[in-house]
Amino acid sequence: MTRLSGERRDVAIAATGFMPEEEGDALYTAALAAGASCPGLPMVEIGSYCGRSTVWFGAAAETCNVILFAVDHHGGSEENQIGWEWHDPTLVDAVTGRFNTLPHFENTMSRAGLTETVRTVVGDSPTIASTWTQQIAMCFIDGGHARDVAAQDYASWSVHIARGGLLVIHDVFTDPNLGGQAPFEEIYLAAKNSGKFEDVSATGSLRVLKRVK
Ligand code: SAH
Ligand code: MG
Repeated sequence: MTRLSGERRDVAIAATGFMPEEEGDALYTAALAAGASCPGLPMVEIGSYCGRSTVWFGAAAETCNVILFAVDHHGGSEENQIGWEWHDPTLVDAVTGRFNTLPHFENTMSRAGLTETVRTVVGDSPTIASTWTQQIAMCFIDGGHARDVAAQDYASWSVHIARGGLLVIHDVFTDPNLGGQAPFEEIYLAAKNSGKFEDVSATGSLRVLKRVK
């Protein structure tokens, strides 16, 4: 596994979010491999929040000389809303009273020096996928964890991954006691059952699969 080093690592660690360091390095390693096997093709992240994972992913995209499209509506998932388990009151906009991670995401990209490599795409993931035409080297899915949202992310983005490219999924828990089952059943198992993806690696809850057909 290749470790992200230097100041960018400090920026990633300081960023608010849900990406453990070791899994960030696994994401970084996967993106470097995807860039090598599918040269020139862009990469896509679904669910950027305040940009923590995007620092690891964007650093690799920069090395590979490709653009990373970071897709998020920035309104937070269900579990981030006021009154829910993963709500962070510091991310509520003082004027609108609404949850909004976009300014925090932009600050993280600026601090990491990644504003040239990372294109911020603000919107609903399946809506953006429906107008997408280009093949991609890698898709990292870390968006909403409701079953229908996870299933839609898989259905709408997996078709754009080039052969030899990677599908990377966060929060895959095979044991229901450790976490919700949507990423495991609606994305990971869906990919395996399609016959189009094979396992590459597992680091914590981060799974890497390669598109083989
Ligand atoms: N990768 C981040 C964590 C992502 S949290 C990190 O490293 O910290 C999940 C994100 O998915 C939230 O920011 C939420 O706004 C976004 N999200 C959830 N459902 C979405 C949808 N349908 N379209 C776009 N973004 C979505
Ligand atoms: Mg996650």
